[in-house]
Amino acid sequence: MNQSRVTTQLTNIRSAPRCGARNRAGTPCQCPAMRGRNRCRLHGGRSTGAPKGQGNGNFTTGEFTAEAIKERQWLTLVVHTYAKREPS
Ligand SMILES: [Zn+2]
Repeated sequence: MNQSRVTTQLTNIRSAPRCGARNRAGTPCQCPAMRGRNRCRLHGGRSTGAPKGQGNGNFTTGEFTAEAIKERQWLTLVVHTYAKREPS
């Protein structure tokens, strides 16, 4: 009983998403990534990302402004919501 719980916990830990940051050996870090993120605590997992605003980043196309990213996420959400519905 207790043994199986430990096994389950270990399985969960092993199946955690891994950090993909490149380390000094040139291979992926593979530490467990932080919750809901793609990087571990050592590789910017807690970071909120680059500073926002006109003074920072590449604004040549506007493709990756916070607004553009938000809009794409919204559109994906709408498409997924309607795609799941059964035709009646
Ligand atoms: Zn890492």
